[in-house]
Amino acid sequence: MTVFNTIHDQTMPAAPSSAGESAGFRYYDGNSAQPHAVVPQVVGTHLRLASPSGDHVTVWTLESIRLPDSLRPPYTLTRRPDFGERLTVVDEAAHALLAPHLKAVRTRARRSSFRKWAWASAAVWLLGFLFWLAFPSLIDGAVAFVPLKTERRLGEDVRDKVSVLMAKKKDGDVIWCRNAQGVAALDRLVDRLAAAEDSPYTFSVKVVDSRIMNAFAAPGGAILVTSALLEKAQSEEELAGVLAHEMGHVVERHGLRSMAGVYSLQMLGTVLFGSDGGFMGDATRGLAMQMTSSSWNRDYERAADAHAFALLRKVGISTAGLVSFFQRLEQDAAGDRSVFAYLGMLSSHPDTGERISTLQTLASEQGGIMGAAPLPQADWDAVQNICN
Ligand SMILES: [Zn+2]
Repeated sequence: MTVFNTIHDQTMPAAPSSAGESAGFRYYDGNSAQPHAVVPQVVGTHLRLASPSGDHVTVWTLESIRLPDSLRPPYTLTRRPDFGERLTVVDEAAHALLAPHLKAVRTRARRSSFRKWAWASAAVWLLGFLFWLAFPSLIDGAVAFVPLKTERRLGEDVRDKVSVLMAKKKDGDVIWCRNAQGVAALDRLVDRLAAAEDSPYTFSVKVVDSRIMNAFAAPGGAILVTSALLEKAQSEEELAGVLAHEMGHVVERHGLRSMAGVYSLQMLGTVLFGSDGGFMGDATRGLAMQMTSSSWNRDYERAADAHAFALLRKVGISTAGLVSFFQRLEQDAAGDRSVFAYLGMLSSHPDTGERISTLQTLASEQGGIMGAAPLPQADWDAVQNICN
């Protein structure tokens, strides 16, 4: 830093200069509080500040100058990096000397900050886009690390929560349907389907007493069926179709993936906005809400349908039951739109027609085992009485 002679009074005569006048400028060198007279001169990309005698010179690059919000004299210029230097432009005459250069500095600074802003937003968008692209793989990756035991435990928890949301209650407790013969008959059907599943899951199907018609597949093999759905089904083949569909959700880990999705979004939300935590509890609740609000992913539904079709064929149960059940629900729904609000199976109801025709196409291409021997009538009767 260059040391200037201190200005002791305002009447100090300005030194002659072709470049600028010293009277309208006060320079503080950052070492003392005393102002110095300077003669400013813009040379190319630099601002040269010389003492009136010309003995002392300091040079600022124009780029390093920090402008105040307003360029109405008096104002003070500083520079980066800041060592405490200040150049105060005292009056209009002084301002007129620097104004064109300072305006150019301002324009350049604005352009550069716009560029920085544009790059930063582009980066944020790109990151978001990449995250969106990678999200399913991230979820799959995360889900792959969840042990079966944990998945099972989470699934039981989810099924309990869904049951509380759906079931009729007695003294505040969920009413389960546990007629022994009905449970045995249902288990036989589940075992028959499960035997053909090439998966590590153990399936458990529980029936809850509920006016709401639905079936759910929680993670880990915990499946819930409502009594209203059993009443709606007209044959064991139809119920088998529903169960095979739900097993498809389990095997494909749709519940766990949804949960991981809710969990990741919550984690992201926490990182971005802060939260008091409690992730897993929230994720479980989130999944329960999601399942009951019928907002399953449409791709999941298609995958579960295809899974059900293949599984039914494998065990030799007519695939016509799955289709006829869908068709009846759709007919009912045509008369009562509110039905759809309750149907996890028909969550993507605008696509129900498409799903039915997909299943019919599969049946005509691969053979749907339409004429398979019916399941035992006694078992079906027992299942229908499971709540009694
Ligand atoms: Zn489904």
